[in-house]
Amino acid sequence: MDFDLNQRETAFRDDLRGWLTRELPDPWRSPHPKEPWTDATRDLARRWQARLAEGRYLAMDWPASYHGREATLGERIVLQQELMAARAPRILGHVGLDLVGPALIAHGTLSQQARHLEPIRTGFELWCQGFSEPGAGSDLGGLRTRAVLEGDHWVVNGQKVWTSIAEVADFCFLLARTDVDVRKHAGISALIVDMRTPGITVRPLHQLTGEAEFNEVFFENVRVPRENLVGAEGAGWKIAMGILSHERGPMWAFMFHGYMREDLRQLTALVRQRGLADDPLIRQRLAEGWIGVELMRLLGTRSLTAEGRGEQLGPRTSLEKLFGSELSQSVRTLAMDVLGPDALLAIDEPRAPWEGRWQRFHLFSRADTIMGGTSEIQRQVIAQQVLGLPRG
Ligand SMILES: Cc1cc2nc3c(=O)[nH]c(=O)nc-3n(C[C@H](O)[C@H](O)[C@H](O)COP(=O)(O)OP(=O)(O)OC[C@H]3O[C@@H](n4cnc5c(N)ncnc54)[C@H](O)[C@@H]3O)c2cc1C
Repeated sequence: MDFDLNQRETAFRDDLRGWLTRELPDPWRSPHPKEPWTDATRDLARRWQARLAEGRYLAMDWPASYHGREATLGERIVLQQELMAARAPRILGHVGLDLVGPALIAHGTLSQQARHLEPIRTGFELWCQGFSEPGAGSDLGGLRTRAVLEGDHWVVNGQKVWTSIAEVADFCFLLARTDVDVRKHAGISALIVDMRTPGITVRPLHQLTGEAEFNEVFFENVRVPRENLVGAEGAGWKIAMGILSHERGPMWAFMFHGYMREDLRQLTALVRQRGLADDPLIRQRLAEGWIGVELMRLLGTRSLTAEGRGEQLGPRTSLEKLFGSELSQSVRTLAMDVLGPDALLAIDEPRAPWEGRWQRFHLFSRADTIMGGTSEIQRQVIAQQVLGLPRG
């Protein structure tokens, strides 16, 4: 495994550090790399994204013709780590930047690229990902939202669910069934849908944390221009699999490592503060957390090295997803045990330790083993596709 930054990555990191010192004002720095979205944090995130775009620190892997830097994966990971270390605001336009942008570059028409890539890059337009449906999450291929071609328009009817940031998104990257007479995966197409089109209703879903970060989205006779089809008709499944592979892999592993390391630092201080540093069971669980976070970094480094050698990561990224999400839950559960009755103090309670973040992170960590593919599905992928075990 390659543990050290190469010359290009070191030069990039040094430039970036200088830029961050100049361009990231102290009041913009965030108490934690994963602060919840509120009107205020969203507004700041938009301003920050515009500033990053000016410095060409967003969409760094895009071609130079679209203001990217054609950056390597290593450079993008350096960027992510330095942003977290500097406590920069979270990126709000992640779906557009990391998922939709690369899909449009790979499969979109020139006019789709010309229309959408720049507003995605600057954060001027936000996107949501309309894939999951009631009854089609793990089994995404079973999705039932229909798009029927009528003249120059696709007419869309159906429902999506768990659609993150749909309430503020300008566009949706939608998967819909355009052909019911072929194999189920072959009948799915990808469409660009303007969220202001008549017939779209967005209904927020309230989570355990009290926030509403995702939504149900209803489509009733929504007319989408024919030219908004991305790639060929029926190519939606292949495009979606490309998008979903970005949701795991080394970028994800290093991001998770960054969040978890920050939590463990805070948790170690809390354990000391509460006089529990000599409790052998707490010490053991804390040590397991630190070992886990280091393993996360090693898994990420291994994937990064493999990708640098041109190897296809494929199903191996399921290991990182499974391990990281379960680590997140065990560390956050330990925090609850250390806090005891104080764990009940919610984010808006003035006396809540760490301003209620522990409780919020614990409650939100339930989602970690669901989003981007559940733990059961990751275990199946590892068993069948990595270890080559027979289907159960
Ligand atoms: C925080 C968060 C954000 C999200 N954001 C988005 C978004 O922006 N856009 C979007 O499209 N989706 C989004 N999702 C949805 C996410 O992709 C789905 O929740 C996920 O794919 C699981 O699908 P499901 O919820 O329908 O569960 P189901 O697939 O119904 O699964 C229910 C349970 O059954 C188990 N199960 C299912 N099939 C099998 C099987 N074959 N073998 C064994 N066990 C099985 C699962 O592991 C799970 O425990 C988000 C989810 C979360 C939690």
